[in-house]
Amino acid sequence: MGDNFQERLARIQERMAVACARAGRRADDVQLVAVSKTYGADRVREAAACGLRIFGENKVQEAEAKIPECPGTASWHLIGHLQSNKAARAVALFDRIHSVDSLKLLQRLEAAAAAEGKRLPLLLEVNVAGESSKFGLRPEGVPEVLEHAGELDYTQVVGVMTMPPLTPDAERTRQYFRRLRELRDEWSARFALPLAELSMGMSHDFEVAIEEGATWVRVGTALFGERL
Ligand SMILES: *Cc1c(COP(=O)(O)O)cnc(C)c1O
Repeated sequence: MGDNFQERLARIQERMAVACARAGRRADDVQLVAVSKTYGADRVREAAACGLRIFGENKVQEAEAKIPECPGTASWHLIGHLQSNKAARAVALFDRIHSVDSLKLLQRLEAAAAAEGKRLPLLLEVNVAGESSKFGLRPEGVPEVLEHAGELDYTQVVGVMTMPPLTPDAERTRQYFRRLRELRDEWSARFALPLAELSMGMSHDFEVAIEEGATWVRVGTALFGERL
């Protein structure tokens, strides 16, 4: 692996393109979220200089400090758990939220987006394996949230996201990615919502996720190096 950023980025883009080709998908169907959590603004600016435009953060407070130091960077996505009492701050900072995990949070985000006059696409985080240690809606809890999706004016549920159980063997995550896509298809039909976006796949398993339909892959360490 090359040890400069540009080389790492080129390798990831190449691997994404190969995975798309293998799955018979177009390369521009899948977008890269550069997960910059724990890395400083200097690293984000370096990445932006290499053409990256979408950055993922998992904490409101960290993003509040970092985003003003990265002027002109196009787009910030929240990918980590959000407490309802931080909904307004998150709406002000982010262009997309991948980690909506309760109806209460969805309603708080809608109220905050309305107050701000900001349109905000959202994804529901789904805990496909039902792990007790994870955030995210259990699959059986998703319909109750989607029943309210038609009432939203400023926010819009555009898809679903998952973090599968941690395993070094990427092939073992395939079942969870596939299951999320199948669930998405069911929910999309039942609630007449497109739910086009599938946010799944990280540094060690993004190729498998692309083969299973990911439209967003969230890659941190493979781009920026190991987090300290
Ligand atoms: C940290 C994080 C990632 C990126 O993980 P890497 O293994 O560093 O690629 C992706 N998604 C979420 C939700 C994360 O918190």
